[in-house]
Amino acid sequence: MQKDRTTKAVTSEEFEAFLRSVAPQFDVRVPIALEDGTRALGRPDEGPLALAGGAIPGKPTSVFFPQFETELTYRPGSIEMQGAPEKPLLVVGFTAQDADCLEFIDRFFSEEYCDDIYFGKRTGAVVGVVSGRCGAGGEFLKIAGGKCDFELVCDGVRFVVVPYSEAGRRLCDRIQGGVDGSLDQLQRESDALGTEFADVVGRASQLLREEKVPEVFWQEIADRCIGCTACNLACPTCTCFDVYDWKCGNTVERHRIWDSCQFGGFMREASGHNPLGTEALRTRRRIHHKLVADPERWGLITCFFCGRCDKVCPVGIGIEAVSREIVERYG
Ligand code: SF4
Ligand code: SF4
Repeated sequence: MQKDRTTKAVTSEEFEAFLRSVAPQFDVRVPIALEDGTRALGRPDEGPLALAGGAIPGKPTSVFFPQFETELTYRPGSIEMQGAPEKPLLVVGFTAQDADCLEFIDRFFSEEYCDDIYFGKRTGAVVGVVSGRCGAGGEFLKIAGGKCDFELVCDGVRFVVVPYSEAGRRLCDRIQGGVDGSLDQLQRESDALGTEFADVVGRASQLLREEKVPEVFWQEIADRCIGCTACNLACPTCTCFDVYDWKCGNTVERHRIWDSCQFGGFMREASGHNPLGTEALRTRRRIHHKLVADPERWGLITCFFCGRCDKVCPVGIGIEAVSREIVERYG
């Protein structure tokens, strides 16, 4: 990160005033506090702004790839595709890890084929990362240093505003108020963060690629899985979806909905054959896909260490836990 960039530091209230000022031009999504004490990405009028608190629990990339959406509607003589939203999205509240995830799914939805439904929302959207001294329980959140349009780096009191893209710069210029802020110490704290999660996942990936992990391991892990699919539903890089048609009178709507590789019918074919017909194969696939198949296809491990699957899994077999077990047993 360049030290000479804009270092205006604003309060949460000043940032909230800015959000109100840009609402006519943008469909704004920010972390809001919910009544149950959790946080979610929502519109500013849906709850109090809650920039601090770390990664929001839900899948942040759902703003561009929602759990359920209508792709197109057939009526006699016409097919209506889902159009672009009326206003571009302004999404604030990604973490640095979420920005890495978004960068990957931008590739996923654009290379080989271009997903118009995804890019209808993604094109023109402005994304802001929140980082610094505002994690859950005082945790320091890694500074992204790019991969987004702008960043709010919390110094413990205010948020230092750092624009990266031209769109980010134009928007940040509209933030009123603030005092001078400094990034240097914050950057040092970010640079000092550990890489243990990434290291253990990287090592597990290597062991899997070297075929050091026996099939019996997957059966043992699968025996603990209750098939709730929370891991997939929370993961910002899980992109599998199912498509189905819903008919009502003369109208047919085509919907898409997130799928999960932990579902029994995930790859079941029309013939009844299921190449992932056991819980062990499906569990292996959930991990193997990100640590082996994606590195072969995309050139990188597609877990970016956001920690959501480990947090939501009720039986403790998220990707970090499984990777750690692989390394401990076979490393
Ligand atoms: S930590 Fe889990 S939820 Fe987060 S990117 Fe990795 S696999 Fe997905
Ligand atoms: S969250 Fe845990 S228990 Fe639920 S499907 Fe995923 S691995 Fe299985």
